[in-house]
Amino acid sequence: MQGIITAMKIVSTCRHWLFPASCLFCQQPLAGADHACCADCLADIHPWPIHHCYRCGKVLPPSLSPGPCGECLHQPPAYVSSTSLYQYRGAVRQAVLQWKRTGHDAAFRWLLTTADHVLRDCFHPDDLLLPIPMPLSRMRVSGMHHSADCCRLLAKRYGCQWQWQLLRRQGTQLRQSSLHAAQRQSNMRKAFTLNHDYLPAAGEFRRVWLIDDIITTGATMHYAARCLQRQGIACHAWALSHTPLD
Ligand SMILES: [Zn+2]
Ligand SMILES: [Zn+2]
Repeated sequence: MQGIITAMKIVSTCRHWLFPASCLFCQQPLAGADHACCADCLADIHPWPIHHCYRCGKVLPPSLSPGPCGECLHQPPAYVSSTSLYQYRGAVRQAVLQWKRTGHDAAFRWLLTTADHVLRDCFHPDDLLLPIPMPLSRMRVSGMHHSADCCRLLAKRYGCQWQWQLLRRQGTQLRQSSLHAAQRQSNMRKAFTLNHDYLPAAGEFRRVWLIDDIITTGATMHYAARCLQRQGIACHAWALSHTPLD
C-alpha cells in the first residue's frame, strides 16, 4: 500500500510539473495546485448584492426593508421572483464570454460550484427548469445552447427535471445586446410561444424556473414568463449573472 501511495505522489508531482495549474479565468499559472482561481480574479468576482427587489432583482439601498421596488409595486414583471448569483462584470463576464465563444465551461462550472450553498436553497427535486430558448439560426451557427446546458447541469446537481421543448422561440429578433432598453422590450414582445404538448399538469411541480446565463433589463425573462403566465403557470427567474445598472 505504501508503494502505491508513493507512486501516486510521484505521478501527481510530475503532472503538476509538466502541466502547472492555471487560473480558470485568466489562465495565469497558479502557485498552488489546490486553487482554481488566482487572487486577482477572485477579487474581481462580485456576487449580486443581497439587498435587491425580490421580484425583479433590482439593487436597493441596504436601508430599505426587504420587499418589491417602486417599479414592481407599479408594474411588476411576469415572473414571481428573480435570483441572480453574480454581477455580470469582471471575471464573471470573462468566464461567460469564454464559455460562449469557445465552449470552455470550466470557469462557469466553478462559479456554480462556489455558489452551491445558495443553489441548494433555490432548487428542489420537485422543481422544473426551463431554459430561455435561443434563436434556432444562432444555435445552428454556434452549435451550443447555453441556457439549456445550464439547466442540464443544475438539474443533474439538484435532482430537478428540465424541459427544453415547452417554451419555444418564434419569429426573428435582433440581438438584445445591440439594442437600448426600450428597443429590447419591443424586440422580445412576440419572441416566445408554447408547445402545448409539453404543458405540465396543474400542481405537478413545486416551482417552475426560467433559466438564463445573463439578465440585463429583464425583458427576455418577462416575455418568456408572460407566455407561461397566460397558461396559468407562475415562473421564477434564475440567472448566473445580472448586468449591474450603473
Ligand atoms: Zn486569474
Ligand atoms: Zn423590482
